[in-house]
Amino acid sequence: MTAVSSQRIAELRSVTERLNLHVPPSYFVSASSSEPYEEAVDPLMDRPEGEPLNLYVGVPLCEEHCSFCMYFYGLADEEGTRAEECLRGLEGFLERIASRDQRHLISGSYIGGGTPTVMSASQIRRLLAAVNRAFAFEPPAQRTFEMSPRSATPEKIDAIVAGGCNRVSFGVQSFDRAIVARAGRTWADPASIRALIGRCRAAGLTEINVDLMTGLDGEEDRTLADAVEAMVGEADLTISIYRYRPGRSAELAARNGMSEYVSRCAERVSAAAGVAVRHGWRSSGRFDGEHVRFMPARPNRWPERNLYETRYRPGLRNSLIGVGVAARSFLRDERMVHCQHRNSAGYELCGRLVEVERCDQVSRVSAALVNAFFRGEAADAALIEAQCGLAPEEAFADELGYLVGEGVLGCAGRRYAVEPSCRARWASLDKLLYPPDWLRQRSEAARLR
Ligand code: SF4
Repeated sequence: MTAVSSQRIAELRSVTERLNLHVPPSYFVSASSSEPYEEAVDPLMDRPEGEPLNLYVGVPLCEEHCSFCMYFYGLADEEGTRAEECLRGLEGFLERIASRDQRHLISGSYIGGGTPTVMSASQIRRLLAAVNRAFAFEPPAQRTFEMSPRSATPEKIDAIVAGGCNRVSFGVQSFDRAIVARAGRTWADPASIRALIGRCRAAGLTEINVDLMTGLDGEEDRTLADAVEAMVGEADLTISIYRYRPGRSAELAARNGMSEYVSRCAERVSAAAGVAVRHGWRSSGRFDGEHVRFMPARPNRWPERNLYETRYRPGLRNSLIGVGVAARSFLRDERMVHCQHRNSAGYELCGRLVEVERCDQVSRVSAALVNAFFRGEAADAALIEAQCGLAPEEAFADELGYLVGEGVLGCAGRRYAVEPSCRARWASLDKLLYPPDWLRQRSEAARLR
């Protein structure tokens, strides 16, 4: 057995900080890329009756490229040619699903991107008609359509409602004109957002969300709280706050370091929460986490049914089927599955999904370990050996030995559990169990971004 060096631990801590990996990933990328998208989706569709899926449909085009965004794939053109090509691809794929004997049940859906409102109202109707032919929806299914304030129109809102969606989410990010300009976005003022919300309500939508971000360059201590103040009086509204993941150049992180950056963002979310609470709203999510939501204090009005938005919540075990280039699909169970959602083919419809079973054994063991710790802070090595054909104690002998020796993991027989007093250290030490080249790939991707 080789000892785990202190240098390796320091590197893991540094890469955890630098790449903002405090939240464990729920999936891994494998070296294989040969599986066609259809092959990947069929196993999801073949799940047993009565097990509803979540659905994510990605429209990978935007009207502009926001500097902070990791989800940009390509610009829509003025003539709508790219949106039409993208829609035809989606229709073809959805028709293939619709031709199956039975329509699979969906418990929550999210049509996002990119920016799905780059499509015209008639294109939105076609897309939703294709979705409705392909799938059946549970009666309480939450069906979200993501809207950009820049391209939202009354006709598109009507098309979204007519197509069965019951929730819209507006990507606002900030009401500060300078911050928005710096990010390369079109500014939307609170009054125009309120008018859109009113239009949604008049069309019959009762679930409306506004996305804001904290941590953008130029943000001041009251920026977020002021944005919440501008929206919090609206009925039927939730406000979601996401923490931006800065690259090296991001002002706050560069000046103060990542830990300071996270705590400054948490303070700003906390100030915004103060505004929401004063208006009788409540919040969910950790203030130092990546996603916090404010909502009116009515019980169970806004059930968290959409796995796309809740993918980091270990309690959810439903599965997600992704359609479109920006989509990801995975089964949140013992067999983690990943669709690489970024590729170089622009907005063309292609994608891939890699079953952990097809990866090499060490990667399978790694995925099983990290996912098990992520879900329940414990892992059963005997179960993983039975599933993967390789004992974790063999694949990660040095690492598990080190973690147990340090008292970070407790060990009872072959069951390992994170010691409650060591959760903070675990945020970086769990990287010891990641697939061997995962961090290298992730660092490389961040460098290229
Ligand atoms: S924030 Fe939205 S509109 Fe801007 S680039 Fe990203 S997906 Fe496109």
